[in-house]
Amino acid sequence: MNSVMTFSRNAVDPDSISKDPDYSSNFKVEIFFKDICNLCKPTTSLESKCQYCKEKMANDMVFWQIIHDILNVIYFLTKSFI
Ligand SMILES: [Zn+2]
Repeated sequence: MNSVMTFSRNAVDPDSISKDPDYSSNFKVEIFFKDICNLCKPTTSLESKCQYCKEKMANDMVFWQIIHDILNVIYFLTKSFI
């Protein structure tokens, strides 16, 4: 399955491109990509990813885990002090 993500002028760079008259108001960036897995979704936890994704993401898994852990700490702290 092929997918496309479209980003408007503001989404690409709200500070400079959106204010630059050299860029059309219709300026957009489209990123076309092909899904490599039909089993996992972006919301699938790292632990639950299929073996194929785990192998493909092997070099990045540690960084994703760090990001996940940081977000969990922030969530915990936010909920603890409100
Ligand atoms: Zn997968």
